[in-house]
Amino acid sequence: MEISSQASLGQFNTFGVTSHAAHFADVTSTEQLKAALEFGDSNNLPIQILGGGSNVLFVHDFPGLVIRIASSGCEQISTEGGIKVAAGENWHYLVRSCLRNELHGLENLALIPGTVGGAPIQNIGAYGVEIAQFISEVEVLELETGKIRLFTRKECEFAYRDSIFKNQLSNQIVVLSVSFQLNQGRPLNFSYPSLYETIEIELAKIPRGQEVTPQLIFDTVCRIRRAKLPDPAVIGNAGSFFKNPVVSQSKHDQLRDQFPDLPSFPVNDTDLVKIPAAWLLDQAGWRGRSRGAAGVHKDHALVLVNLGEATGEEILLLAEEMSQSTLDRYGIALETEVRII
Ligand SMILES: Cc1cc2nc3c(=O)[nH]c(=O)nc-3n(C[C@H](O)[C@H](O)[C@H](O)COP(=O)(O)OP(=O)(O)OC[C@H]3O[C@@H](n4cnc5c(N)ncnc54)[C@H](O)[C@@H]3O)c2cc1C
Repeated sequence: MEISSQASLGQFNTFGVTSHAAHFADVTSTEQLKAALEFGDSNNLPIQILGGGSNVLFVHDFPGLVIRIASSGCEQISTEGGIKVAAGENWHYLVRSCLRNELHGLENLALIPGTVGGAPIQNIGAYGVEIAQFISEVEVLELETGKIRLFTRKECEFAYRDSIFKNQLSNQIVVLSVSFQLNQGRPLNFSYPSLYETIEIELAKIPRGQEVTPQLIFDTVCRIRRAKLPDPAVIGNAGSFFKNPVVSQSKHDQLRDQFPDLPSFPVNDTDLVKIPAAWLLDQAGWRGRSRGAAGVHKDHALVLVNLGEATGEEILLLAEEMSQSTLDRYGIALETEVRII
């Protein structure tokens, strides 16, 4: 393992922001990870763990050691759909490979960029499914003790774009592997409105009597995402920049009086209501606006984009301006989904 100095992070974050790390290491095994951590420890360096860099915004140069998790491997741990996958594996390739091996469930989460180890951090979700539903265990290395620990799904404290790893244990652990339980007989989930509508159209094209298959869900999700979201290889972005705000029923009712078209979704088993941040920003006129090279995507008010040589600081300033505008207009400050570093 090589530890480089003054390394450019441009190719390691999907915003394409050209910050630098004082030190940078790619690690492919737990032994290499421990050696890199020892280097950091003996040089008193702050540590930043990185996966695919698809949910981070580097606002400044990082003065410490960035460790990119590049481990690989996937093993079957039970004959009934149990698999254990190394943290550095590419998430979308895992989804595709599960599909080929008739392990179903993850197809709704196709084409989400990033690594397997990055996925449980914010409990990735899309098209009515969250990764938490399929995780049996997360194996981590504790930075403080150097010990390996297993977290059961319950101990991960998964919630909407959230987990114990993003909160209490933020920057205190490294995910080494994730174990999944993927049942072959699991009912397919395609009730999410935009997915359901597109699948209905697709079904009309295939012979009568044919059913919805995991492959059809995978293909449809990929098609919708390709049409809707900008490809980070073409235009720098990190997907949704903000989380959808969750408000009390009374706050929601008050907003609905003012904005009768306000869309909202009940949050299961609570009297809270989720409001699409994209709608709030869209109505506030943010779609397609820009500040220098930092912009808001022309089709998607929730996606901030790097239109050229934007710095992380410029993108953050734009995000702050957007959040201030929703606070002024609706009394709701938006919380970032992307990790600001
Ligand atoms: C075009 C686009 C579309 C997206 N769509 C979605 C979507 O539909 N749903 C969704 O939920 N997200 C989406 N995202 C966000 C992102 O892809 C996910 O959050 C992804 O899981 C991040 O993984 P990563 O490996 O890139 O993590 P990184 O961006 O590298 O890191 C994110 C955070 O996780 C930490 N981390 C990463 N790996 C580890 C590890 N092994 N151990 C400990 N900490 C770690 C980092 O320190 C950082 O705090 C999208 C992003 C893009 C660019």
